[in-house]
Amino acid sequence: DSIKREVIDTTKKVQWSDIAGLIKAKQTIQEAVVLPLLRPEIFQGLRTIPKGILLFGPPGTGKTLIGKCVATHARATFFSISASSLTSKWIGEGEKMVKALFLYARVKQPSVIFIDEIDSLLSKRSESEHESSRRMKTEFLVQLDGAHTNDKDRILLIGATNRPQELDDAARRRFTRRLYIPLPEFQARHELLVNLVSMNDNNLSDYDINEITNSTEGYSGADIKELCSEASMQPIRELSQTQILDITISKIRAMNINDFRRSLKHV
Ligand code: ATP
Repeated sequence: DSIKREVIDTTKKVQWSDIAGLIKAKQTIQEAVVLPLLRPEIFQGLRTIPKGILLFGPPGTGKTLIGKCVATHARATFFSISASSLTSKWIGEGEKMVKALFLYARVKQPSVIFIDEIDSLLSKRSESEHESSRRMKTEFLVQLDGAHTNDKDRILLIGATNRPQELDDAARRRFTRRLYIPLPEFQARHELLVNLVSMNDNNLSDYDINEITNSTEGYSGADIKELCSEASMQPIRELSQTQILDITISKIRAMNINDFRRSLKHV
């Protein structure tokens, strides 16, 4: 039961259109991951089903969103866990949790198991490692292999990491597909900004959106989201305490380019 509470993610479904940019990654995932989960029987002979996929790249670029999207489209149960939450467990607990996780994923299949910061679970640093985390790592690999030797099991592992170089070889081999998830380029930042600013009243012209897009080179999707929520707070900050308590939502000033210029200094 604690597994249920901790790792089954039933938050809102994610559609491909919710993910800005990443066109190639989305196509690859649709073909190599979603399709095999939906139609395992057509994957025979040369058409193999990946055992696991590794999403690597800078933080906040949509790796978790992709995981959720896969689960949505494959009509799978989405298990989501951060590896550091496993490694921080009491001695022996992490190992039990791993066992329970796979057991439950088998019961609820098709299942997608998404593990964030997978490097901290499957890293190559072995000398300094605690005996219990080594055992957990072994248990994890055993479970993973078990899930894939039985052809009927429809369990897919998606690992995400910002530090792929930390993974050890045994772990790396399990990820037969590896996809780089980059920082968003102009087009993707533009798309994301248009989506985000449409959530509140705004007076932003195409020209303004282009200016913000240009100013956010090097920002991740998560940074852009942060920027937009910062900008959306500017009209509120101008109000006095009494105004804030009285104002109706339609009276709140629309966001404008100056709110973004100001927020860019903070985010
Ligand atoms: P981390 O490595 O830090 O776990 P991540 O790559 O898994 O990050 P997400 O958790 O998927 O990143 O993204 C964080 C938030 O940033 C998302 O909830 C989403 O709002 C936004 N975001 C990031 N990239 C995109 C994108 N390409 N399209 C839409 N939203 C995005």
